[in-house]
Amino acid sequence: MWYDFQYKGGEYRVEDVSVKKIVEAVGTPCYIYSNSALEGDFDVFREAFSEISPLICFSVKANSNLAVLRTYANLGIGFDVVSGGELLRVLRAGGDPGKIVFSGVGKTEDEIKAAIEAGILFFNVESIEELQVINDVAKELGKKARIALRVNPDIDPKTHPYISTGLKKSKFGIEISKALDVYKEASRMEGIEVVGIDAHIGSQIFQLDPFVESLRKLIELGDALKNEGITIQYIDIGGGLGISYKEGEMPPHPKEYADVIKREINSTPYKLVLEPGRVLVGNAGILVTKVLYVKDGASTKFVVVDAAMNDLIRPAFYDSYHEVITVHESLGDEETVDIVGPVCESGDFFAKDRGLPKVKRGDLLAILSAGAYGFVMSSNYNTRPRVPEVMVRGEEFFIVREREAYEDLFRGEVIPDFMK
Ligand SMILES: *Cc1c(COP(=O)(O)O)cnc(C)c1O
Repeated sequence: MWYDFQYKGGEYRVEDVSVKKIVEAVGTPCYIYSNSALEGDFDVFREAFSEISPLICFSVKANSNLAVLRTYANLGIGFDVVSGGELLRVLRAGGDPGKIVFSGVGKTEDEIKAAIEAGILFFNVESIEELQVINDVAKELGKKARIALRVNPDIDPKTHPYISTGLKKSKFGIEISKALDVYKEASRMEGIEVVGIDAHIGSQIFQLDPFVESLRKLIELGDALKNEGITIQYIDIGGGLGISYKEGEMPPHPKEYADVIKREINSTPYKLVLEPGRVLVGNAGILVTKVLYVKDGASTKFVVVDAAMNDLIRPAFYDSYHEVITVHESLGDEETVDIVGPVCESGDFFAKDRGLPKVKRGDLLAILSAGAYGFVMSSNYNTRPRVPEVMVRGEEFFIVREREAYEDLFRGEVIPDFMK
């Protein structure tokens, strides 16, 4: 919630802890999450849907830190995973396997086996070949795998092309016109139990119509399946609800989102499954960085900071906007600057032509709304150790991932004998 991140007494705080104090302990750059914001933002989402109590499966790829996952596991919710690694994380964090759904176009046999053995709720199957492999693996284990087909409803969510996933040309899902035939085939497979229909149309979506349109197509398909004698229990509409990254941006409130969805699903026998990611974690985390240099370019003033695109790739990858503020409250004049990192790429920036109070070497900046697709997309590019993650709870803070050491970066690398 916004009030978990505020200036108090001239210093930016996460809950009741000053960011400066955290930086004194862990250095910069670092990610900081608010436990109260995680819980609060989840409450708002759950509350919006309360009458129909859907199964909410947090999309683990948005933020997979074990302490974040444990926060959700303690709230009793489910998880949407897209790899064997994410499955392991959820189990390690104490998540209920019976509330896990497994999505993704390229599940391996090992991943499928691990998921069946863990007893997940269902697979979101993305192709006929995958369906056959799941059937084979399940039979080998002497089990039945529960599945939903991920259909491609051919809907434009009107968001960034890299995060649009439900268009005809997209790699995701099974063409909705072919789905009926695939369901018929699935229902004849010995190792398969058909339980649901799934779609996920994209991310950072600001319009409700695409969600409604997609859901209507899924319900229609569910009814068509019924006529064929195939009864499904779950309709999974994926995630994708947008959040505000910029002052004045107005995504639909979860309540508005819930209202239009409830209107469609209420008169059906299906149990709703949701896979929110960004909307639950996006505004619950920040990335804190230190000013290394202030440099006057020919036409632009650059603020060079110690965080880089390898720590938060969204601006470089999606041209995303993140608010950047000074940690020490500054009421001085603003100047227009580019905020850039040390990586040797022109794409390594956090903000361009941005008004920022005058800063100097050593000042701390906070990059806001960095809780989703932040640390999880970080890399070691330029041989930069990945940064620590900190969780705040009230007046305390906890290091929930340590900063990588240089030694960690060489682990597993070998210089072959012939070079010695
Ligand atoms: C990424 C993803 C989500 C979560 O998307 P958000 O926009 O973060 O809510 C949900 N389901 C699937 C299948 C995804 O790939």
